[in-house]
Amino acid sequence: MKSIDQLQDLKGMTVLLRTDFDVPVVNGSIAEPFRITRQKATVEYLVSRGAKVVLAAHISAVPSFEPLKPQLEQLLGVTFGDAVTLVENTRLNPGEEKNDTSFAHELVAGCDIYVNNAFAVCHRPHASVVAVAGLLPSYAGLLIKEETDALSKFIDAPAKGKVVYMGGAKASTKAPVVRHMIAKAEFVAVGGILANDIYKVLGRDIAQSQVDDNAAELLEGLDLHDPRLVIPTDAITENGQMLDIGPHTAAAFSALAAAASMIVWNGPMGRFEDARFMTGTEAIAHAIIASGALSIVGGGDTIRAVDSLGLLEKFTFVSTGGGAMLAFLAGEQLPGLKALGYYDHDESKTP
Ligand code: ADP
Ligand code: MG
Repeated sequence: MKSIDQLQDLKGMTVLLRTDFDVPVVNGSIAEPFRITRQKATVEYLVSRGAKVVLAAHISAVPSFEPLKPQLEQLLGVTFGDAVTLVENTRLNPGEEKNDTSFAHELVAGCDIYVNNAFAVCHRPHASVVAVAGLLPSYAGLLIKEETDALSKFIDAPAKGKVVYMGGAKASTKAPVVRHMIAKAEFVAVGGILANDIYKVLGRDIAQSQVDDNAAELLEGLDLHDPRLVIPTDAITENGQMLDIGPHTAAAFSALAAAASMIVWNGPMGRFEDARFMTGTEAIAHAIIASGALSIVGGGDTIRAVDSLGLLEKFTFVSTGGGAMLAFLAGEQLPGLKALGYYDHDESKTP
């Protein structure tokens, strides 16, 4: 994979930068700027080397970037004009999600090189992520380098001392991570709805707890009695619903962190939006920080939970990728990374 640190002089060049501005918007205002501020270094890198930068991104919270432009300028430390321009929300064009070549041609018009710095959309085969890379010399931005370096460092390290915490909802995106990481980690500790799914498949009483209809299918191929798979032994319940891990589980999960040298965490342990079910998530956050282990945390809700505790900056690495981080940890090839040549080295080994 070529990355922009190989590019020094960009005078006279126009760069199409696929960036990540997919942030929550409340009352017309950017509610959480983390993803935008993580783009700043790459924008600065390109501008300071003389490039004209055309920013392309999508946003789900609002239809258009137009009313957000003053905030974006402030967060990025740029003024939109000649040197830096912003293309309208790419997902307004039906070609974006279809990975359409003619939309890709529209995007690259007038540009000399393509830089992808939107790690969080690399698991999506969209035009501004994949098709454009076939049309111009393509490079990874600084953030994509950082994200892939951090996650691959974790995956490639020896299993001993590695702990993965998985919680939250959307079990269909989490089960593949458990399946892939179980053999590569010392322990995989599971909370949230995925833990309910495991209970259900084990035939335990889940009462009214939330589970996935296809729990058995999601967990197929995973040995639920594997000693490396650590599941809750107690829960905090309300109206027959398990809504958080219980105190014994929180203590047992925390003990795993204390002995770990590297930790990845995605997914709150319970329904953290209600303070009564935040205890497990809070315990895990504190345990990870206290362990002194290299720590990687990701997922929109997980970051929100940790941030509300004021603990986010205590983690070694905060990933901007929710789904992309999970796909990476599940051992999948991400289309956006593939388009940048990230997997080329591995492919050359297969005849
Ligand atoms: P992330 O965005 O960090 O990847 P998810 O979106 O997968 O996390 O999951 C977060 C959601 O999971 C939260 O809304 C939380 O309330 C919910 N959740 C976690 N555990 C439970 C539980 N036991 N029962 C119901 N909801 C839960
Ligand atoms: Mg979420």
